[in-house]
Formats: sequence, C-alpha cells, structure tokens
Amino acid sequence: MKYFFAFIFFSQFVFSQSPYPQDYFRSPLDVKVILSGTFAELRSNHFHSGLDIKTQQRTGLNVYGVAEGYVSRIKVSHYGYGKALYITHPNGYVSVYAHLSKFSPRIQKYIKTCQYDKESYEVEVFPSPDELPISADEIVAFSGNSGSSGGPHLHFEIRDNEERPINPMLFGIDVEDTKPPFLSAVYAYPKNKRAHINQNKKRTELRLIPTSKGDYTTEPIEAIGDIGFGVVSYDQQDRAYNKNGLSNIQSFYNGNKTFEMDFKRFSFDESKHINRFIDYEVYKEKKSRIQKLFVQSGNTLSMLKDVDANGYITVEDSTSTVYKVRLRDFKGNEAWLSIPVKGKRAKEILEAPELKPNTYIIANQVNELDQGNVSVYFPKQTFYEDFHIDFSVANDTLKLHKNTIPLMKSYTINFDIKNYVEDDKDKLFIASLYGYYQKPSYISTKRLGDKLSARTKYLGTFTLASDTVSPTVKPVNFQNGKWLSKLSTLKVKIDDDLSGISNYRATINGKWILMEYDYKKDTLTYDFDDNINTETENNLKIIVTDNVGNSTTFESTFFRK
Ligand SMILES: [Zn+2]
Repeated sequence: MKYFFAFIFFSQFVFSQSPYPQDYFRSPLDVKVILSGTFAELRSNHFHSGLDIKTQQRTGLNVYGVAEGYVSRIKVSHYGYGKALYITHPNGYVSVYAHLSKFSPRIQKYIKTCQYDKESYEVEVFPSPDELPISADEIVAFSGNSGSSGGPHLHFEIRDNEERPINPMLFGIDVEDTKPPFLSAVYAYPKNKRAHINQNKKRTELRLIPTSKGDYTTEPIEAIGDIGFGVVSYDQQDRAYNKNGLSNIQSFYNGNKTFEMDFKRFSFDESKHINRFIDYEVYKEKKSRIQKLFVQSGNTLSMLKDVDANGYITVEDSTSTVYKVRLRDFKGNEAWLSIPVKGKRAKEILEAPELKPNTYIIANQVNELDQGNVSVYFPKQTFYEDFHIDFSVANDTLKLHKNTIPLMKSYTINFDIKNYVEDDKDKLFIASLYGYYQKPSYISTKRLGDKLSARTKYLGTFTLASDTVSPTVKPVNFQNGKWLSKLSTLKVKIDDDLSGISNYRATINGKWILMEYDYKKDTLTYDFDDNINTETENNLKIIVTDNVGNSTTFESTFFRK
C-alpha cells in the first residue's frame, strides 16, 4: 500500500511538471498584460496563433525581445502581420512580434537596406545568427497597428522548432482572470435522418437557463438516435471586456468523456479546419460561431483529444440521461452546462421531399462544371463532403451555390472573353458579388489570350466586371512648387475605385524612394530620414497602377535645403 501511494505521488509530480520552460521568457511589453485576443481563439478562416496584447490604445510602446537570441526573420507586408519580427532563442523556440510601427534603429537600418536594394516596401529576409544577435531585455521594436490590424496592439507568438504556435501563457506569461467562461447559445444536431431532437430533424437551438452558481442547464430535450451538440461560448478576463477564447472544452455523457478540444498548440496547415469545427453556415449567415462538440469527416484538427464515437451520443428509447459540457479558461475557471436528455421515439413526420439541384459534387474526386462561356475546376478534396451544388450561368454571371459551405482549398473559375472587342478585354476582371447590394469585388484574375482565370476559396456569385478608370494620387501634406525644408515626411493619398491598387513606384530625381503603404488609410509615406540626396529643386514622381493595369503618374516639384 505504501508503494502504491508513493507511485501516485511520484507520477502526479511528473505530470504536473510543465514541458514548457517557465520564467525563461519575459513579457514583450512593460505594461501589464491585458489581452484583446487569446491563443487559438476563433477567427475568420483560422485559429488565432498568438496573444493580442493591449497597448493602451497607443502605438510606439517599447517591444522587448522576450529572451536572448537572434533575429531569424523579418517580414514587411501591406496586409497580414504588417511589420513582423521573428527571434530564434537558444532553446529552440521562436518568438514573433507583429503589427509593429517600426523596428529598433539597428534592425530598422538592416531592413531599410534590404528595401532599398529590392526597391520594395514588402520584403522578407532571413538574417543569419551572427547578423542581428539580441541580448536579454533588448528593445527590438515599437508596437503599432500595421498590416491587417484593427487597432493598436501587439500580436505576440511563441512557436516550437516545427513552426507550430503554442499558447505563450504555457510559458508563464501571466494574465489576471478570475471569471469563468460564459455561454451565449447551445444547439443540438441530429447526425442523420434516423435521429430527432424535440420532433425536429435539423439543428435545434435549446433555451439556456443560467443556474444560481453561474452554470447552465436547458429544458429536458426529447431525442432519439445519434445526437451532437454545439456551443457559442467566450471567456472574459479581468480588466477587459473583450470576448476572448476558451482554453479547453470537454463533454461527458453518462459520466464518460465523449469529446475534448484543447486549445494549446496547432500547426498552420490545420488552421483552416476551423471552418469544419464551427457551424460554417450559421457563421456566414449570422456571424455567430457555434463550436461543434462532435467531429465530422475531414476535420483532422490535432487540438481534438479523446473523442469517442466522434463526439456524438446515442440516445435510446425510454431512457433518461444527462449530457454535460465543461468550459474552461487558461486559469482553470470553469462553467458547466447540463442538458437532460429523454429517449423518446418521434411520431412519424411526413416531410416534403427537398428540391435539390441536379449537379452532384463528389468531394473525393476532381469535379469540373461547364456552361456557356464559364468553366469551373474543383481539385480533389476541395470540399469536406459530397453535396448537390447549385450551378448556373447567365449574362456573364456565374451562380455557384452559396458561400455557406466551407472549402479546404482554392478552386479555379474560367471565363471565356472571345466575344469582347480587344480594347475591352484588357480592362476585364473576375469579381465576386458580395452582400445585399451585390457589390463587385476584385478577385485576383489572370488573363491568357481569351481566357480569364481566378482562384478563390469561396462559393457564391461571380461576374465579369470592367475597370477603365485609373487610380487617383493626391498630395496630403505638401503642394506643388513649395519649399518643404521643415517637413519630415511626404504623404500622398492613393485610391482606386473598382479593381484596386496593384503596385506603386516612387522616385525623387529618378532615384527610387521607399514609400510605406497603409491600405487602411490609403496613404503612401516617405521619410526624409532615409537620406535620399535631395537638391534644392527636386522632382517627385509616383506611378500607381491598378489590378487591370490602368496607371496614373503623379509629378510634383519641391524645394529643400
Ligand atoms: Zn493577433
């Protein structure tokens, strides 16, 4: 008996040791860590790969390397992470800092040299270990709002040596949180036609009843057959109202665990399966993300653990059972949901046969559709499951089902444009029609002779659109023919109506200058500190080109000493 206890004590001791080094990484900021986004929380087409740390609604806060190491990658892009820095540490982990406003002077100098060499704002470089070593507590950058960031914050990640992002809180970065997660909706799903919930053979919302302890229950459901459940839930931490993600969800049926999702680590190539994990149709139609506590074909997320019978429960006639869900945040605060389930045969319901479109997609093979001047090519495994696709073409408009079905990869749409006159062909592009007003939106289009091709990851309605109007370029902080000796930057506003900005090129007296593009403000900014030699009289020239090749040349003279 004594040995038995000793063994339990020993094994618990072993398992409670975190496999991640504690107190190795400091916080990347001086300010208290308050999160506007948690690790692996649900985002559009991906799980969030890091922490979004609040920066007091400001940009320009000091960003520290979280430990010694070396800069192993710098990427500057218009969208996505904006200005991003990657530091590789001696223990094999890589820390990532994104949406920065600028880098520390030493790193800024390094990247500007690359940008001037390549004559491009967008660059990606992989310095060798001896080029930009980083010491402990070194300021490496300043926080910002660059790229696809919706407000000033620092996006911070820790990745393992296989490029997989891991929750940085596992390394001891502490965030105050004393509040349990909360539920805002719960749904039951019959797996097939033999199952029902409250006489219903479709997704059924259950009415949530909060209990006095902060947990939840629902009215008893009557069901039969294989049933799954889904929840809309969030976690709120102390000191912020942001609706963040959970750390773990488990469900239990008759006391046995049937499902677990553990938001600890994932790899970037599986992140797309978020669209299989949530109810994609409800998300596209109502913007609400129902997390399905059952697993459907093709969902290979590694964050799914211990899933029994794919997370479905089987309800037998004349039984009375309870299905429970445990929602947990990183600090271990929990909320429970209990759903009483009564097994009861349904009265036979006569259903009207559904009218289905007659084109059938088989997910496991290549599917090609063709009509009029349009053809569509779906590679193998574009879809998670077989389905009847709604497909029609009329007046240069392709209707391809609805955007409520998730795709695993991009497919190709081709339009034949031989019936257009040559001058018009050049201005055509493929647009998707979005929203209530069916506004045409450019999708990346290539032309090969009389064929226009575009690749997309969404179903929906597509049309041929034409852009004949060139971009506009307007000076913001200067005027033609003036003295600008006191200005530290040159700023212009650029815009394109329909197909959008594709590229731009700016020179002073014929020499290329770096202009940073902020697509959220439609601005290009040149910094006089870049020290492109100016004379007394200078010629600024900016050429902006849209996605079908219309271009505008802006020229201005300024004086400086
Ligand atoms: Zn982020």
